[in-house]
Amino acid sequence: EAKAGGKNQIIYCSPAMKEEATKKMKLTNSLYRALDKNELYLHYQPQVDVKTQKIIGFEALLRWNNGEYGMVSPNIFIPMAEQTGLIRPIGLWVIKTACKEFKEFNKSGNKSITLSVNLSIEQLKDITIAEKISEILYATKMNPKNLQIEITESIAFNEDYNILKRLKDIRNLGISVSIDDFGKGYSSLNRLKTFSIDLLKIDMDFVHGITSQSQKDRAIIKSIIQVAKNLNVKVLAEGVETEEQFTFLRDNGCDIVQGYYFYKPMPASEIEKLDIMEAYR
Ligand code: C2E
Ligand code: MG
Ligand code: MG
Ligand code: MG
Repeated sequence: EAKAGGKNQIIYCSPAMKEEATKKMKLTNSLYRALDKNELYLHYQPQVDVKTQKIIGFEALLRWNNGEYGMVSPNIFIPMAEQTGLIRPIGLWVIKTACKEFKEFNKSGNKSITLSVNLSIEQLKDITIAEKISEILYATKMNPKNLQIEITESIAFNEDYNILKRLKDIRNLGISVSIDDFGKGYSSLNRLKTFSIDLLKIDMDFVHGITSQSQKDRAIIKSIIQVAKNLNVKVLAEGVETEEQFTFLRDNGCDIVQGYYFYKPMPASEIEKLDIMEAYR
């Protein structure tokens, strides 16, 4: 039984809650050793230009295969990594590994192909983050023009001056910035004016809603695309799974799509085998 709060408040845990907490603790302990044990690796999901239907970028997605628990979803272990501070070393490992692998599968050095890496707010609390990313660019000979970081709405519209300053520092390195899961947060579209971004990624919940009875999600998608166009920002729709969803997005002016309908996330070795990559060599 755990005591919480100062005011003689006692919260009783059921055995099931205890078991859950113990499991979470064990998993967290394993995460501390995941990097050293080489249990982390990356998958890449191609992003497709709507007009040409060619691959124009890749999103790096972290994977964790643990000896005891098997594959653990990022939706489980990323929050753990954020709570423990492990996201900082892990996040730098992701950027470095992604840059190295990208240099391998983008041998031609095509400047218009982007590599996107997710960045969490904890990483932006590190005052040396821009410096560290700059070192990685140098060490891997990665062209910053090819790199893009994905941040969530809540980061982009954060009131904290320091966070915004660090984002600006990163952008000044030549790296572009996209807003992930757009529409999921509560920020008004108007606030986009105050912040420089390069790409808006429409949250997949709206995309999945394209095929629903209700007009709502289709209306929201249309207005997001409209606002992005007015601000001269590109729009990507994520989680595109069907032809119907793709057709709607295409007909309404969406620039880029990402989803199982085109490609699933896959290891670098499979990216290298894609026909589309041959065309760039
Ligand atoms: P996200 O950045 O929004 O990534 C998109 C997620 O949607 C990925 O899940 C991807 O595998 C999945 N997805 C792609 N296409 C489809 C589709 O057509 N249908 C459906 N249903 N899903 C699709 P994943 O890989 O499980 O990652 C989940 C989240 O974990 C990511 O969401 C991101 O927020 C976080 N994440 C993953 N890797 C990293 C990382 O290296 N650093 C940080 N900070 N977060 C990461
Ligand atoms: Mg993302
Ligand atoms: Mg997303
Ligand atoms: Mg997401």
